[in-house]
Amino acid sequence: MEQDTIFAMASGAGRAAVAVLRLSGPGAGEVLAGLCRPPPPRRAALRALRDADGAVLDRALVLWLPGPASYTGEDSAELHLHGGRAVIAAVAAALVARGARPAEPGEFTRRAFLNGRMDLIEAEAVADLVDAETEAQRRQALRQLEGALGALYRGWAERLLVLMAQEEALIDFPDEDLPPEVAEAACAELAALRGAIAAHLNDAHRGERLREGLVFAITGPPNVGKSSLLNALAERDVAIVSPTPGTTRDALETRVVLGGVPVTLVDTAGLRAAADPIEAEGVRRARAHAAAADLVIAVGEAGAAPGDVPPDALRVANKIDLGGAVPAGALGVSAATGAGLAALRARLAAEAARLTDRSGPPPLTRARHRAALETASACLAGAAAAALPELRAEDLRGALRALGRITGEVGVEDVLDRIFAQFCIGK
Ligand code: GDP
Repeated sequence: MEQDTIFAMASGAGRAAVAVLRLSGPGAGEVLAGLCRPPPPRRAALRALRDADGAVLDRALVLWLPGPASYTGEDSAELHLHGGRAVIAAVAAALVARGARPAEPGEFTRRAFLNGRMDLIEAEAVADLVDAETEAQRRQALRQLEGALGALYRGWAERLLVLMAQEEALIDFPDEDLPPEVAEAACAELAALRGAIAAHLNDAHRGERLREGLVFAITGPPNVGKSSLLNALAERDVAIVSPTPGTTRDALETRVVLGGVPVTLVDTAGLRAAADPIEAEGVRRARAHAAAADLVIAVGEAGAAPGDVPPDALRVANKIDLGGAVPAGALGVSAATGAGLAALRARLAAEAARLTDRSGPPPLTRARHRAALETASACLAGAAAAALPELRAEDLRGALRALGRITGEVGVEDVLDRIFAQFCIGK
């Protein structure tokens, strides 16, 4: 159990009508009683908050939330203050004077996890929900917070436990004549588990992509209108448009929302053999971006021969206002007149939705989970190949440990600091 009583603003920084300050820890009740007469549990009440000298600091809506039925599982309180800087500073000073201390990033959620109020996957979902910028991200985080992903992993862990019990039986009673169906069923179950985890891993990173956002690279020869297209899609002037080829030397980025997914559009320098060293560096970066992008938007000019384009790129023929023919398989647009841009936007939104496909079972959302599942998967492969029940049991135990690390059920002390440091203060 944590001994400190911590506090932090739960609402955002800056002047606002109301600021919510949160307090949690074994001393929360005492600290609160030092400020005002605590209201009955879970009832909002208006109270004058006072410092040690009895001077009124603010009139606030106060909530007293005794543990264990609180967010952290500890005794907690919420103070809904007037949202001015001076009010917040004065109340914070009074809390420190009463023995509370400012919270570290993620400390409330860390305590919730340590007190068994949520598993690690749900804790991470809290951070994702706070960070969610788009509707699709919000839905994915909420689904994870509600336990869909944890249930999937725990379901696998339970099946592994059953398999392990069977192996233990084989080790303990080697001479008993276990019916051959038992071994066959165990073998089939092991194969089924491996298949389920492999399918989950082999999801084209759709959950991670939605969480982190996609990258679409705009590539093509100089002067075809890449910068103009970026500006048109972003609906503002991000890139310099110039009739002089080779103007875009660095990779310019802008974030847009397409189909509920945050997408970083990268305008790359014209891909040509450049004499100028600065432009050459731009071209090098463009190639690197295009290689790492989730989708390449290969831009050419209508009427011009399509250049060297990656096979899965989305091909766009710009400047259709000049009358050139649109090559087969390309989308004709004009950044200048806006013709075809709605269709291009719709196509990009469809690509974003496809890359982050939200139908079906909950997807993997974090590299941390992926690494643990890969370990589990390798252990299961080892178990399937093991000749002796003892070795098989050891591999199954390894797989179970790896699954347990995802939800936080086994040995995660070493990763907790890293996980919760990514949170904002007050969560
Ligand atoms: P980039 O080098 O590929 O980024 O091309 P820019 O966006 O800088 O555009 C190069 C030139 O083509 C500029 O003079 C633009 O005004 C012009 N341009 C861009 N899009 C269009 C278009 O759809 N139609 C016409 N007629 N000109 C365009």
